[in-house]
Amino acid sequence: DAITIADLEKLAILGYGNGGTVYKVCHKATSATFALKIIRSNIDINTRRRALTEISILRRATDCPNVVRFHGCFEKPIGELAILMEYMDGGSLETALATHGKFSEEKLFLVARSILNGLAYLHAHNIVHRDIKPGNILVNTKGEVKIADFGVSKLMNHTFEMCYSYVGTNAYMSPERFNPDAYGGSYNGFAADIWSFGLTLFELFVGHFPFLEPGQRPNWATLVCGICFNDPPTMPETASPELRNFIACCLKKEPSERWSTTQLLNHPFMCKDFITC
Ligand code: ADP
Repeated sequence: DAITIADLEKLAILGYGNGGTVYKVCHKATSATFALKIIRSNIDINTRRRALTEISILRRATDCPNVVRFHGCFEKPIGELAILMEYMDGGSLETALATHGKFSEEKLFLVARSILNGLAYLHAHNIVHRDIKPGNILVNTKGEVKIADFGVSKLMNHTFEMCYSYVGTNAYMSPERFNPDAYGGSYNGFAADIWSFGLTLFELFVGHFPFLEPGQRPNWATLVCGICFNDPPTMPETASPELRNFIACCLKKEPSERWSTTQLLNHPFMCKDFITC
């Protein structure tokens, strides 16, 4: 039977996002736990648009084991939209990094393979995520790793459709998104997800955002200059040659040279034998 909002009891706040709050909820009849994102969508049109985008994308991706599972949505007369999702009890990779510190190469391999599987699924379904970063990757104690937060994602109607409509900015954005004119404007957004994926893995391995020194406070202008005008960052020697090359394939500045999900799934790092896992 379909779950209604009256069947759910709020247990705790899991986090705050753009225009909404995410609660841990309990389905009273079965005691099953879920995450419920409540968005005050009557406040402004962009918040509502983000929520509707997230719902439409999550609906399309319910059979991917590396995308947070969608269980339904509700609209309240007072102008709230609520999205019921699977509850990820381990929180995000951003929290995991802050709590447990840098990831070992074995741990990074497992995380990378899961995110890549999720991205391969999304890209095969013409979905560009556009906001891949440690805070948007959730984990659970079963060891599953899943992509979340599809508020700024885009369904590409045409393979070569351009992807400039997203006006947000964040540090994980690729050079061609900061500076489209320098790249001939002929990119379609899939490669931008790969850049953000590469930076995410880099950060998890070294413990800090790649373009900044440890503890350095982000200065937006310096950061953007670094991304657009410097060579891409290179992984430290402590990483295996396979991992270093894998990250280099994700962080090619020229989007047409950056590897696709299909290529990366066949990269030697993805085929490496880790004794511990
Ligand atoms: P927004 O899209 O508004 O930025 P997010 O989807 O990123 O919101 O959610 C905000 C925070 O809530 C996340 O960083 C995470 O800590 C928590 N959260 C979101 N979805 C879940 C979930 N399914 N399970 C557990 N925690 C979640």
